[in-house]
Amino acid sequence: QSDVVPQAPEDPLFGLMAAFRRDTDPNKVDLGIGAYRDDNAKPWVLPVVKRADETLRKDPNLNHEYLPIAGLAEFTSASQKLVLDADSPALKEKRATSLQTISGTGAVHLGALFLSKFYHPNTQRTVYFSDPTWPNHFQIFSNVGLPYKTYPYFSKKTKGLDFDGMVSSIESAEEGSIIVLHACAHNPTGVDPTQEQWKKIAEVIRAKKHFPFFDTAYQGFASGDLARDAWAIRYFIEEGFELCIAQSYAKNFGLYGERAGCFHFVTSPGSDAESTVSRVASQLAILQRSEISNPPAYGARIASLVLNDKELFAEWEANLKTMSGRIIEMRKALRSKLEELGTPGTWNHITDQIGMFSFTGLSEKQVLKLREDSHVYMTKNGRISMAGLNTHNVEYFAKAVDKAVKA
Ligand code: PMP
Repeated sequence: QSDVVPQAPEDPLFGLMAAFRRDTDPNKVDLGIGAYRDDNAKPWVLPVVKRADETLRKDPNLNHEYLPIAGLAEFTSASQKLVLDADSPALKEKRATSLQTISGTGAVHLGALFLSKFYHPNTQRTVYFSDPTWPNHFQIFSNVGLPYKTYPYFSKKTKGLDFDGMVSSIESAEEGSIIVLHACAHNPTGVDPTQEQWKKIAEVIRAKKHFPFFDTAYQGFASGDLARDAWAIRYFIEEGFELCIAQSYAKNFGLYGERAGCFHFVTSPGSDAESTVSRVASQLAILQRSEISNPPAYGARIASLVLNDKELFAEWEANLKTMSGRIIEMRKALRSKLEELGTPGTWNHITDQIGMFSFTGLSEKQVLKLREDSHVYMTKNGRISMAGLNTHNVEYFAKAVDKAVKA
């Protein structure tokens, strides 16, 4: 029987990581994977995470019991406040329900699974992703049987947002589609709508009775300002939308492998809101139980300790500024070095884009040339992880790009 199983291709990103590890060149540069690195290209344990970890380890009452199905209650309630704001009308009116998940991926999956079963169950709806998007979106939603399409997002010409293309595509999508939106620091482009543009996007989504699904994997990591990075989600909630949010703590806490995340369902204001939330929560609990039974505890305990303590929270915000600030510095350095070198093309997009990634506009051919000639590893679509650049390699990288572009 097993001979009917076809060989699947290797995950491109994890394949790239393996190729980087095999390369023995001392100057090699890893700009592939989306994980923060310090100025010495080393993983960075946030000092506040280290403190929380030490506190947890000293706790004589810490044990390894199961968490409840919905996860650690202090963690999910702090997560709601973080993304929605403590004063959110949705929290005051008990219009939100949240479950701890296996990081952001698990949150996207739980939301997708829930929608596949309960969102217009008798008339199949299409999910719309930005073109391009985080590639896992395609797999996660198609694994639960939802058909997908894409809306234009990135303008190759301006290396910014194709706003008109995005809006007209959402406008012409069949009524009641699911629209997946990156809350901030869009992956892979680093291009976000402005607040004015978000308002227009909300208007179109409302007019077409679409269902917004926010994916937020970079709150605080993008701009260093937690409220600013949650602005779009909070705006949609103020506007009364029913929506889902998939929240990841991988990047903003550096808790990648601990898999701390949260899924939120928020319903619209109305007299039946509490009953809706209670019914939704009961179904989400069944789905969660059948998939993971209950979520992993340790990462959520760390995040919860920080989120629920004023002093630790302030330290976390300072750590976020360290990460986002270093990345912003690298954007400036890369742009100015390319401009100094007179590398053909415009490079303002490097500093206009935000967050972990930059869509450089380099072609697949140039990307492969960079890998062969200069041992620089990046994805074929020209995306670089800004966190892989540092004061020791940014000039080397700029010169390598210059060479590849001029070739
Ligand atoms: N969504 C987006 C857009 C992402 O970039 C990521 C991280 N690469 C995730 C979700 C989820 O990642 P994780 O499961 O590690 O939290």
